[in-house]
Amino acid sequence: MTALTVRERVPLAPLTTLGVGGEARWFVAAADEATVVAAHTWARARGVALRVLGGGSNLLVADAGVDTLVVHVGLRGVSTRRAGGALELTAAAGEPWDGLVRHAVEHGWAGLECLSGIPGLVGATPIQNVGAYGQEVSDTVTAVRTLDTQRGEIVTVPAAGCGFAYRDSMFKRGEAGRWVVLAVTYRLQPGGAPTLGYADVAGQLARQGTAPPTLAAVREAVLAIRRGKSMVLDDPLDPNRRSCGSFFLNPILDAAEAGAVAARADEPAMPRWLQADGRVKLSAAWLIEHAGFARGERAGPVGLSSRHTLAIVAHDGARASDVVAFARRLQDAVEARFGVRLTPEPVFWGDIQSVTRVPPLPS
Ligand SMILES: Cc1cc2nc3c(=O)[nH]c(=O)nc-3n(C[C@H](O)[C@H](O)[C@H](O)COP(=O)(O)OP(=O)(O)OC[C@H]3O[C@@H](n4cnc5c(N)ncnc54)[C@H](O)[C@@H]3O)c2cc1C
Repeated sequence: MTALTVRERVPLAPLTTLGVGGEARWFVAAADEATVVAAHTWARARGVALRVLGGGSNLLVADAGVDTLVVHVGLRGVSTRRAGGALELTAAAGEPWDGLVRHAVEHGWAGLECLSGIPGLVGATPIQNVGAYGQEVSDTVTAVRTLDTQRGEIVTVPAAGCGFAYRDSMFKRGEAGRWVVLAVTYRLQPGGAPTLGYADVAGQLARQGTAPPTLAAVREAVLAIRRGKSMVLDDPLDPNRRSCGSFFLNPILDAAEAGAVAARADEPAMPRWLQADGRVKLSAAWLIEHAGFARGERAGPVGLSSRHTLAIVAHDGARASDVVAFARRLQDAVEARFGVRLTPEPVFWGDIQSVTRVPPLPS
């Protein structure tokens, strides 16, 4: 029987990259699977809801906190297995994501290099199908080991069962706290070529003068691009550091809806990308900028990053309610100008009026 240490009223703001929000009513730090299972048993016996915390880099916690048990998943360990010509890399949920990417690149295993520099832990990567610069984890994930808290058992979900989509999966869509990811397996290519899907990355490689590009060169290029946008959290003095990355998803619309937005925009340069299913992806950053917002713009203690239009930054004194109010202003302005309501990317915890459901402010 695992002895369980349940702490009470633990501040969550320092455990998130935005650094806002209140306390967890109960809190367990789990360094092994037995502790995760014991925490689930504890919560179920008391009828208390469970939430899972990783690195807190995609999370907005309400100012009033959460009346739940928060389980901070800190399971560590990495193992590999040859599978034909491929290599299966299994990492425990609490492994820092970028450390795993660096490990893969250093060993010459292709498949994760474009995902360099993304904050957070391994266990969260399947939740929103983490992606950047032409790769998504759904390209390589083969299996996700989870505790299904609804059934009370540990199950391994194969990739086909994860329901991966753009920044989405069945884990994110489903009931909050149902799945606790314990470990993730990625299928990588030893000696494989790097993915070069993005013009920005190709341009940076050219500036670096690395030809032909190696996995390490692509990692360096991605890190350099991300640093230029304050999208790597390695500078404690960076004024843009307190964010959760992109606050909104790029809208994916059917062709007719995208056509209507283009007609309203009346700008031939409006970026749009045709998707395999015939729908059209638009740039949330472009829509925000063309709805009248500029990088670095402030609304009291919150504002847009001075280097990245999609990042909402919390400054000294910011509260979750300031972040929500600012996000809502952006949504309202984009909707009024283009007829599209932007969908937030981070997960909201607690009593936050969802910025997706709040009616537009009177103008
Ligand atoms: C500067 C910056 C840049 C970013 N760039 C990118 C990017 O390029 N691409 C991208 O996709 N994302 C990006 N993000 C968002 C974020 O880093 C990722 O979504 C990351 O995977 C979140 O990991 P985390 O451990 O911090 O998760 P958390 O923020 O702790 O949690 C996020 C969600 O996942 C759930 N979760 C976490 N761990 C588990 C687990 N073990 N089991 C079950 N559920 C779990 C939580 O309950 C919550 O719902 C960025 C964020 C920042 C701050």
